[in-house]
Amino acid sequence: MITLPKGTKDLLPQESYKWHYIEKKLRKIAGLYQLNEIRTPTFEHTELFLRGVGDTTDIVNKEMYTFDDRSGRSITLKPEGTAGVARSFVENNMREGGLPVKCWYETSVFRYEKPQAGRLREHHQFGVEMFGAEGPCADAEAISIAKSIFDELGLNPRLYINSIGCRNCRKVYHGALIGYLESQKEGLCATCKERLHVNPLRILDCKNENCQRIAKGAPSILDYLCEDCNAHFEGVKHSLDNLGIAYTVNPTIVRGLDYYTRTVFEFISEGIGAKSTVCGGGRYNDLIEGIGGKPCPAVGFGMGIERLLLTAEAEGSIIPNEELPTVYIASMGTDDYCQRLTASLRKAGISASFDLVGRGLKAQMKFADKIGAKYVVVIGDNELASGIVSVKNMRESSQEEVRIDDLAHYLVK
Ligand code: ATP
Ligand code: MG
Repeated sequence: MITLPKGTKDLLPQESYKWHYIEKKLRKIAGLYQLNEIRTPTFEHTELFLRGVGDTTDIVNKEMYTFDDRSGRSITLKPEGTAGVARSFVENNMREGGLPVKCWYETSVFRYEKPQAGRLREHHQFGVEMFGAEGPCADAEAISIAKSIFDELGLNPRLYINSIGCRNCRKVYHGALIGYLESQKEGLCATCKERLHVNPLRILDCKNENCQRIAKGAPSILDYLCEDCNAHFEGVKHSLDNLGIAYTVNPTIVRGLDYYTRTVFEFISEGIGAKSTVCGGGRYNDLIEGIGGKPCPAVGFGMGIERLLLTAEAEGSIIPNEELPTVYIASMGTDDYCQRLTASLRKAGISASFDLVGRGLKAQMKFADKIGAKYVVVIGDNELASGIVSVKNMRESSQEEVRIDDLAHYLVK
């Protein structure tokens, strides 16, 4: 038997309503914030991620699905959502249409990781990117979108924020951080030893336990912010207070991608184990320039849909199945009639089905129950003769007599 690749998952037909429910909510919130959907390709030139995500990050060093296509071009399956959207923003000259450009996406993300609960090799992200707004209000707006989604789903993960400054303040901070990490070098993992001088900030985000312990004692970036970055961070906090969004400042949050500047944030759900970050994002003022565009400030986030589902489960939030079939037409020797009746109900916009596998009446009733049909209508010769059927309400175990001609009307309400 051929099985699915490690770290991937089937979304089974009986589970898909959960995704549809969440996706409906995501679209609703995106609409309220006037974000438009963008879809970019599943794969891009590898170069985009080397420059965009950063070539000393775990994602680029260890996790990308990269291969040469048949013409020898290096291709990479999206390891995150932002770089592709940023490329599209530049390539399509979107700034001409007026800034800010605000968009959302839902995409597969591919990372060669060690699979475990909440950590897959193909997962899905809902993401938001906003280009062209520099002020702290935009950072708060991005955070507020994520918060509105959690509210809409009745979930309550905690928000942690930090600022990692700009190129200038980070230069000074790097010196202090390297000094500290040098003194702890023996305890670091092999990768971190290597990137100590190239990209010390990455060490604060390493998943290795020893590195995490060492990271806890590191000097805080917040003590090294330049005046402008400090004012910006104060502005973000003010804006969040103004919106009544609760947060905790956590200086160890640095995020796993190189493109962030200033604000970074994570929503963490305590209930879903070690892999508890449901949503992560921040400001990335240097990315657009980094991939060859005219400088443009930007802010956004990515939210893991699988982890959103885990959070919903952990918090005991029930996802209602709004997609259950409306009616099942059971045939008692009236197959041709049932086929036509079902067709006419569907034309009237009612989800309807009838027996396709030659079951007897009792088995048809059982099946209707199994698929969760709200109503069952049994059609035999008597019903055809009288033109009246009894509509069985499966939820309330009640039934009502209805004229066949009125059936569609009856079921619509
Ligand atoms: P982590 O620290 O858990 O590795 P990350 O910082 O790599 O997460 P991001 O790159 O910010 O995550 O991705 C945004 C969101 O996508 C995460 O907050 C998480 O909800 C989800 N996510 C990331 N990697 C995975 C994965 N391998 N499997 C499932 N969901 C994931
Ligand atoms: Mg990761």
